Amino acid sequence: MQPDTTLRPAPLTSAATPPHERAKPLAKGSTYPAKDLCSQCGLCDSRWVAYVKDSCAFLHQRFDAMETAAHGRSRDLENEDELYFGVQQRMLTARLQQPIAGAQWTGIVSRIGVRALETGLVDAVLCVGQSEEDRFTPVPRLARTPEEVLSARVNKPTLSPNLEVLEQLPGSGIKRLLAIGVGCQIQALRAVQPTLPLDELFVLGLPCVDNVSRQGLQTFLESTVSSPNTVVHYEFMQDFRIHFRHSDGREETVPFFGLDTPKLKNVFAPSCLSCFDYTNAGADLVVGYMGASFGRQWLTVRNPKGQQLLDLVEAELDTAPVTSAGQRQAAVQQGIEAYDKAVKLPLWVANLIGFFVERFGPKGLEYGRFSIDSHFTRNALWLRRNHPDKVEEHIPAFARRIISRYRLPD
Ligand SMILES: Cc1cc2nc3c(=O)[nH]c(=O)nc-3n(C[C@H](O)[C@H](O)[C@H](O)COP(=O)(O)OP(=O)(O)OC[C@H]3O[C@@H](n4cnc5c(N)ncnc54)[C@H](O)[C@@H]3O)c2cc1C
Repeated sequence: MQPDTTLRPAPLTSAATPPHERAKPLAKGSTYPAKDLCSQCGLCDSRWVAYVKDSCAFLHQRFDAMETAAHGRSRDLENEDELYFGVQQRMLTARLQQPIAGAQWTGIVSRIGVRALETGLVDAVLCVGQSEEDRFTPVPRLARTPEEVLSARVNKPTLSPNLEVLEQLPGSGIKRLLAIGVGCQIQALRAVQPTLPLDELFVLGLPCVDNVSRQGLQTFLESTVSSPNTVVHYEFMQDFRIHFRHSDGREETVPFFGLDTPKLKNVFAPSCLSCFDYTNAGADLVVGYMGASFGRQWLTVRNPKGQQLLDLVEAELDTAPVTSAGQRQAAVQQGIEAYDKAVKLPLWVANLIGFFVERFGPKGLEYGRFSIDSHFTRNALWLRRNHPDKVEEHIPAFARRIISRYRLPD
């Protein structure tokens, strides 16, 4: 089946004004409908709050409907690659031959945004800049020039209200949009897509886990790194270490297994502790890193629109097939128990474990599966303990199947 590439709004059967034209954004700082599970995706900061009940990723899970509308079918649960990484027509690893300085990885995402504007594929790119005062405070924008897209490069590793900029669409002249975003933002965007005043929407997704509020980020940095206020970039990488870059160019790495788990257990946003959309199921193209070998990026093309986005830059990439090695299961099972007991290992033990895991542990797609298994099991446990009433409705079928492969504590 071909995907519905138009996704036009259903025709209004009466002269009634559509709900979003009657709605107003919620007041900033008020309690949003998903309450403590809200990821601040920005939908409620726009008039499209009118549809929040059926669109919010934390009120209502709708993976099958979203995948079917965006890609023409839902994922095949019997296919291990789709079970883990979602609907796909192609997976590959890549690097930009000329990496963009200051990008999170090599800058494939920013380059696609730039080319989408330069070629006239779209009129604007929804991306996330940073506040002038604070490098980690996100400022979503509708970029109309390549320079604006480039200045939004690099992760702002905090919850970002991307969808608040929908409010700027009416009257803007923007008819074709490329939206860059993480899973919760894209789930809500896909749900309201038929009501948006657009002729065409392209979605470039980022995988995402363990996001934090700005305050949570401060706690994380203060408990993990030597000089929290000079960090300009960090990433959890495939060598089982967190790589921090400081403003003076200095690199610092900390082993995952050495994190102060007792302090960090509650630092992640509740939305992220109850999320199962790690690999951004609704995007046309997803660009991350965790299914690639160290230093490369990992791309999942979900549908023909995703390939259209990749076509914009493919000639500028050094590409390679995805690979997979190692066995994740024992490490995931041990991790579940260690996390549950909130163990903080001495640094020499953490380094030793890191040394062996890096050499003999999961690599490529198996590393991606290691990370997905670890997060889905942790999140299922968190939901069971903190929102038992939501477990049934909230955990999608693909995540249940993955979680059932492990023993979870009570
Ligand atoms: C919070 C977060 C967590 C992530 N976790 C993982 C992970 O666990 N595994 C994995 O494989 N990949 C993850 N990624 C994606 C990965 O870190 C890179 O962003 C991706 O590979 C693109 O790299 P790049 O060099 O091409 O990006 P760049 O060219 O540097 O562009 C980065 C883009 O990210 C957008 N962006 C920045 N901050 C946010 C935000 N808070 N919300 C939405 N969009 C934002 C910007 O608009 C920009 O266009 C995460 C990204 C984010 C934002």
